[in-house]
Amino acid sequence: MSAEGEYDCIVIGAGVQGSFTAYQLAKKNQKTLLLEQFLLPHSRGSSHGQTRIIRRAYDQDFYTNMMEECYELWAQLEREEGVKLYRRTGLLVMGPENSESYQQFKVTLQRNKTPMVVLTHDNFSQHIPNVNLAPGDEAFVDISAGVLFADRALRTVQGQFQKSGGVIRDNEAVTNIKPGPVVIVSTSAGVYRAKSLVITAGPWTNKLLAHTGLQLPLEVVKINVCYWKEKVPGSYSVKRRFPCFLLTEGEEAKEHIYGLPSNEYPGLVKICYHMGSETDPDQRDKQTDRSDIEILRRYVTRCLPGLVPEPAVVESCMYTLTPDRHFVLDCHPAYSNIVIGAGFSGHGFKFGPVIGKLLCELSLGEMPSNDLSPFRIRRFHVKTKSAL
Ligand SMILES: Cc1cc2nc3c(=O)[nH]c(=O)nc-3n(C[C@H](O)[C@H](O)[C@H](O)COP(=O)(O)OP(=O)(O)OC[C@H]3O[C@@H](n4cnc5c(N)ncnc54)[C@H](O)[C@@H]3O)c2cc1C
Repeated sequence: MSAEGEYDCIVIGAGVQGSFTAYQLAKKNQKTLLLEQFLLPHSRGSSHGQTRIIRRAYDQDFYTNMMEECYELWAQLEREEGVKLYRRTGLLVMGPENSESYQQFKVTLQRNKTPMVVLTHDNFSQHIPNVNLAPGDEAFVDISAGVLFADRALRTVQGQFQKSGGVIRDNEAVTNIKPGPVVIVSTSAGVYRAKSLVITAGPWTNKLLAHTGLQLPLEVVKINVCYWKEKVPGSYSVKRRFPCFLLTEGEEAKEHIYGLPSNEYPGLVKICYHMGSETDPDQRDKQTDRSDIEILRRYVTRCLPGLVPEPAVVESCMYTLTPDRHFVLDCHPAYSNIVIGAGFSGHGFKFGPVIGKLLCELSLGEMPSNDLSPFRIRRFHVKTKSAL
């Protein structure tokens, strides 16, 4: 028998952004349905895995400013549920002293009076053993940064949503969307109606938006998530206070290289390149390009002498990139009761609590409590076709 139902709001996609949005809606007494195409938990989108970096260090003030509230909301969730979701490690930011990108990171933190420590070549190895700071590079530490326990956070917020009366239907793919004053959403198992719809479908966003006559300039790339073995177990571990790190650009490549201390897999340090190769999200594992791993191998050899320069474990994840790498948080240009949260460009996890709040506000027709101008769809100059 096929399922049916009427809701105040339907959210498509139970990744970090959809889960936080659904939770915010349920907290505001909205009858909310969260639809997910895969059985939960799953590792086929962008929000799986044990860890993500949380940081104030950004090259744009608006992200650094949004992080104030994010830290508070993560802490609130920890208190409400009695779970630990964040561990402070600090974030070591490194980059060429003459690099605009590196200087932007540093200046943004200084301007926003964010706690930080600038390191010099003389004291660097005393603070950060087992890392070679390249000649001509500078470094500082964003003190409040750390690790978010991603899988646990997702479970926690989905649990909170259900406790607040929300309904999750997983293993149920959305197959059609019919816009209108009442949006009709068809899935592999039924048909649902709602006053508003939120699309937080990560790499599948454009596939869903096709039903609404809209396509955004989003590029989906596969990221090889690499874990590197410590030559001496524990030498890069959280217990030894090794920080997360981010290289803004280096000899090997223009994009960031980032890493997290060993913890999740004992003896293995997670290090990734902040770019991958284009993929169809339904064909992710057919994308076998490993040029990002080659970049990382050269970086590890040059700068992290305590690691074996060959990844011991490689997992997969996807980014959904916008051309300017800023998010999309907006209403559909043709249907004001369809809200879109997309294009998190490989850095959206830490913002989950605030993004959930903002998408909830948009969906309720409230004035957003943050300035959303950097995240508007109109910056892309896209056209919509009638979906009817
Ligand atoms: C390797 C890697 C490292 C990262 N590191 C960091 C970091 O350190 N810090 C940070 O802040 N961010 C980081 N990010 C980015 C962050 O994880 C993402 O921005 C975030 O997870 C995006 O979440 P999302 O909810 O938009 O997408 P997703 O997690 O992909 O969720 C979308 C969901 O929609 C579902 N869906 C799609 N289509 C349908 C349909 N038709 N019907 C029903 N359901 C559907 C999908 O199955 C999926 O579950 C990283 C990402 C990767 C890949």
